[in-house]
Amino acid sequence: MSSQTIESADDRVPPLSLPAGALSRSDRRYEYEVGVDPPDIEPIEHQIRLDFINGERIRADHLLSDYNHWAYDADDASTDPWLRGPAKPNGLQFAEESCLNRVREEERFFECPEDSAVIADAPVYLGAQLEEVREHANTESALEKARERRVNWYRESIPGKNLYQILKKSSYGTLISGGKGPSLATAALTEDNVFEGTVVVSEDTDPKKYARQQNLPEEFVYRESEFSHADSDPAPSIVDFGIELPAPLLIGCFVNGSRYPFIPWGDGLTCSCPYKHDQAWRVMCKHELLASNICGFESSSIFIPKARGIDIPHRARRFVSPEIAATHRPTTN
Ligand SMILES: [Zn+2]
Repeated sequence: MSSQTIESADDRVPPLSLPAGALSRSDRRYEYEVGVDPPDIEPIEHQIRLDFINGERIRADHLLSDYNHWAYDADDASTDPWLRGPAKPNGLQFAEESCLNRVREEERFFECPEDSAVIADAPVYLGAQLEEVREHANTESALEKARERRVNWYRESIPGKNLYQILKKSSYGTLISGGKGPSLATAALTEDNVFEGTVVVSEDTDPKKYARQQNLPEEFVYRESEFSHADSDPAPSIVDFGIELPAPLLIGCFVNGSRYPFIPWGDGLTCSCPYKHDQAWRVMCKHELLASNICGFESSSIFIPKARGIDIPHRARRFVSPEIAATHRPTTN
């Protein structure tokens, strides 16, 4: 059921029909159900994207060669893999600081779990957790457990099990390798990895026939089954997000041969790759890291620049929530 329909400037292109979960939380049509809808884009995810947009470009010589997240302990600074490895990119330093800031900012939700006016401001997942806490027989211990899980996510899981993992040569490195190392020109990022404006049609539509009918270039009209996530279990489909097809969408075509749609969701976009969706707590995949770098260096904006293809509505390229972008300032301690 679509809640917002965005007409395309080009009348050959179908409108973008968005579900309530793709809207901003301040939009009165916004609606999101934890446990039913695909994971929301948490405020920290928007902030981390902004941190990497504002940070230096990630080069091959920033990446970890071997890193085992089991060896990482947030309470033991000597386990930081960047201590003895490459220089830690400042985007990652900003992101780690943003995580710690959120721990401090979210304290108030744990202090007044009964105050629904305060909880209304909490990220949706946390709000649902606190609601469960209130129904628990032993509220105090349930609250303490919920707080521990949340703090652990910010301090340990996001850096150690997610961001450090994608900042490996075997992960992000596969998108920027090209063998050019630190001298890799900014342009090479977008020569090897291309964001394409496309129209995605339903499985029972013939893309070529649709392209002819609409007078669109047929190489940019796809069925979802042509993308790399189609055969993978953890990856949700575009329809799972409630996006109506045909839809104008941005597709990332990556140097390693994979192609993933970026789905309008949670006031931004989410990559549809299996890595991102295999674990709901993951806040970034290597494709989103690349998109952040490209936003920072190609356009200095929260919109992913389209390199080729069909002109699609701006909303299909808006990577970060404008509300969060207006207030977030990357900092290091
Ligand atoms: Zn991805």
